[in-house]
Amino acid sequence: MEFDAAEGVDTSERLYDVGGERPHDAADSHIEGDLQVRPEGPPPYLSPSSASTFRSCARRWKFRYIDRLADPAGEAALAGTFAHRVLEDLCQLPGAERTLETARTIARDVWPETVDDPDFVALELDEEAERRFRWLSWTAIEGLWRIEDPAEVTVEATEQKMDVELDGVPFRGIVDRIDRLDAAVDSPLIISDYKSGRAPSPRFQGARLDQVLLYAAAVEAESGQRPQAARLLYLGQCIVETPVTEKLISAAVEGLSDTWEHIAACIDADTYAPTPGPLCGWCPYADQCPEGLDELARRHAAGRIRASAPALQFLSTVG
Ligand code: SF4
Repeated sequence: MEFDAAEGVDTSERLYDVGGERPHDAADSHIEGDLQVRPEGPPPYLSPSSASTFRSCARRWKFRYIDRLADPAGEAALAGTFAHRVLEDLCQLPGAERTLETARTIARDVWPETVDDPDFVALELDEEAERRFRWLSWTAIEGLWRIEDPAEVTVEATEQKMDVELDGVPFRGIVDRIDRLDAAVDSPLIISDYKSGRAPSPRFQGARLDQVLLYAAAVEAESGQRPQAARLLYLGQCIVETPVTEKLISAAVEGLSDTWEHIAACIDADTYAPTPGPLCGWCPYADQCPEGLDELARRHAAGRIRASAPALQFLSTVG
């Protein structure tokens, strides 16, 4: 099994152009796996992806987190998960061993796990599509070297599970990487999170950074040490970074607390308002949402939705 620039693949299309917006961060999927084993009732904690889903559409959140309807990962999300896994193993090695060749070996070793994943099996990829999937994954993995030299990074921890209370809100998350600024034992901490989606324009960077600011708050709550910076590593594109200040942490935690209160109010009233918009095209529950179907029909008629939007399948007018 080769992991490299695959022959016969149209390389004009990048990972972040496939599948539109990812419905949730693949890195959180194993936290949310808890949803499958708890008997019933609302989730007893908030993760960044759960909070983000609620803010974008309360009804979608209800389908996912109250009704626990399936939200199968698509091709782009699975490719991102695979890339995360390879980079996690890579960054656990000493710096000098973090090379592209080592990454290729790890990719070959962990590939069978992806092939056995039920979500991957459900994609029913033919040989060419599977080759494309491997290329998408490898593009994301290789993209790390375009934004930093992993051999030079002082990695403190990878895939660190956080389970803390932030301003009274039970919060869970998994930090992709906690780094140190340099090799000194007491060097400041840096929060790093891999992203295989499209990097946001400067206007939207603040909202995206909320996730890593919450991770910084969680690390501070657990260790007593406030990280110096929080970074989103958009693989193959750029690093979006912010200093971790009291003001920014307070704003992120306050936003989390507001969301938690809003969720409680919706649960009490058993009312979850829909927010029809462009993301309806990528909502797996659109077939159960009349407002979402109307939105899809309007956008389709006006030519304002990509033909690849998966939810278009729910429109009877789409041939
Ligand atoms: S279809 Fe749109 S409005 Fe309906 S639940 Fe999904 S995202 Fe929300």
